[in-house]
Amino acid sequence: LRAAQAVTIRQLPDTLVNQIAAGEVIERPASVVKELVENALDAGARRIDIDLEEGGVRLIRVRDDGGGIEPDELPLAVSRHATSKIASLDDLEGVATLGFRGEALPSIASVSRFALISRRAGGGHAAMLEVDGGRVGTVVPKAHPPGTTVEVRDLFFNVPARRKFLKAERTELGHIEEWLRQLALARPDVELRVSHNGKPSRRWKGEGDLLSEVRLHEALGEEFARNALRVDHHGPAPAAGAAQGLRLHGWIAQPSYNRASADQQYLYVNGRAVRDRSIAHAVKQAYADVLFHGRQPAYVLFLELDPRRVDVNVHPAKHEVRFRDARLIHDFVYRTLEQALAETRAGAAVGVAA
Ligand code: ADP
Ligand code: MG
Repeated sequence: LRAAQAVTIRQLPDTLVNQIAAGEVIERPASVVKELVENALDAGARRIDIDLEEGGVRLIRVRDDGGGIEPDELPLAVSRHATSKIASLDDLEGVATLGFRGEALPSIASVSRFALISRRAGGGHAAMLEVDGGRVGTVVPKAHPPGTTVEVRDLFFNVPARRKFLKAERTELGHIEEWLRQLALARPDVELRVSHNGKPSRRWKGEGDLLSEVRLHEALGEEFARNALRVDHHGPAPAAGAAQGLRLHGWIAQPSYNRASADQQYLYVNGRAVRDRSIAHAVKQAYADVLFHGRQPAYVLFLELDPRRVDVNVHPAKHEVRFRDARLIHDFVYRTLEQALAETRAGAAVGVAA
């Protein structure tokens, strides 16, 4: 009888643990780009260069001019659950960085040929650490300006089951570009340069703190920009003792500009791009009377609130958040947008250009 056979419980080796974790966060080249660029942003980068080959499958190289890493901390950066971003549960509850789980680099390094090269801003030597499919090398000196470069080659070379699911170069590049568009809308202050197969393919100039119509136009097209209404509304603090009130700002398209699908709906919560059914519902409801049935609104909306009122640690890839005051936030979004749309209709009625 099989059931009678002895079973052995064993501790899985680190590399396998990292590969399993990689399954949750690293779905395709775009997820690698997302994690690396988020690290660059958390490090305070003002300019980020992204070089891709073959849709990112052959190479993803992300170089930043952020704070950098000390040579002796490079091995920690590629270790599981090692992070400089939080130190306690209290920090986690108020987390303002994009990362905090300390999982991305070890996960990526376990499923690729990986190199991390860095130099601290303001002094010190540059060094490099290579990891080959999870096998960690030793730290060696290497020339590098202040900041960090991460190179990821041959993604999933050692995980055939995953590699099989990668799509054509164009498709993978499309996913990367879509994610970069999402990022470019959220961080107009950062310059992004992208090259693919050795040719410059996209450049987002750093433009200052506010999303300008120029960047909006570049990201979502001239027609969206022409039909966009600026929204900026402050609301009440969601709860007594909350450090800050609610703020919803961004751009929503006039109802006359609408879409067949939800392809131009960008929502950020405290700067993080998320999907949220409750907020998506609130937006749809605000448009309910002014959109034809089955048509989708277009928007780029930023919701800001006390980080303690929102839990970002819901999913390893952090695509979702959970609000403590979901109902209140839903109603705040709904009322803000309904009001903004009502005002343009009133304006249109008396012939005032919006
Ligand atoms: P997390 O971002 O959740 O902390 P990661 O695995 O993505 O975890 O990165 C681990 C650590 O390596 C970070 O906490 C940070 O200290 C360091 N690090 C990673 N990328 C960079 C970078 N581009 N610049 C500076 N430090 C970095
Ligand atoms: Mg990270």
